[in-house]
Amino acid sequence: MVLPIYVYGQPVLRKVAEDIDPAYPNLKELIENMFETMDKADGVGLAAPQIGLPIRVVVVNLDVLSEDFPEYKGFRKAYINAHILEVGGEEVPMEEGCLSLPGIHETVKRGSKIRVKYLDEELNPHEEVVEGYLARVMQHEFDHLEGKMFIDHLSPLRKQMIKGKLSALLKGKAHCTYKVKTVHHK
Ligand SMILES: [Zn+2]
Repeated sequence: MVLPIYVYGQPVLRKVAEDIDPAYPNLKELIENMFETMDKADGVGLAAPQIGLPIRVVVVNLDVLSEDFPEYKGFRKAYINAHILEVGGEEVPMEEGCLSLPGIHETVKRGSKIRVKYLDEELNPHEEVVEGYLARVMQHEFDHLEGKMFIDHLSPLRKQMIKGKLSALLKGKAHCTYKVKTVHHK
């Protein structure tokens, strides 16, 4: 089932999300719905707060990038109770967008290497070091679990430049092809 994506201004996007119990009801179905919602919106990642749930669940699809990054062929993964333990490597600038910030694309600097822990879809625990494009996407998505969005990383000047776009989103003017929930339609 495709779910509406919560847009900038929705309070759930600013909450610190909580770990879930492995017995969380209908977790498989929730993850399936998140994949479907992300695919419909052509996203590479989606965090549960973006569908209105303050829990630490993230889905990532890098298969769509496999033409440029062959190593990501077939890469579709869910991360449960996900946490970043350490960010390191070089600071790399790259343009980012976010399904909760339709129409806004800005360059964000992030570390090139991270150490993360999470449970996979079968609830097996993992702790690993991740680099490259996946490290970028994970930092973006796991930020959502801390109540952060990529615009929080911008300089005051860049923030000033996108002020008009942000206030349009707060007025419910989100121009995108997927279903959204702005603060204006409850
Ligand atoms: Zn995002």
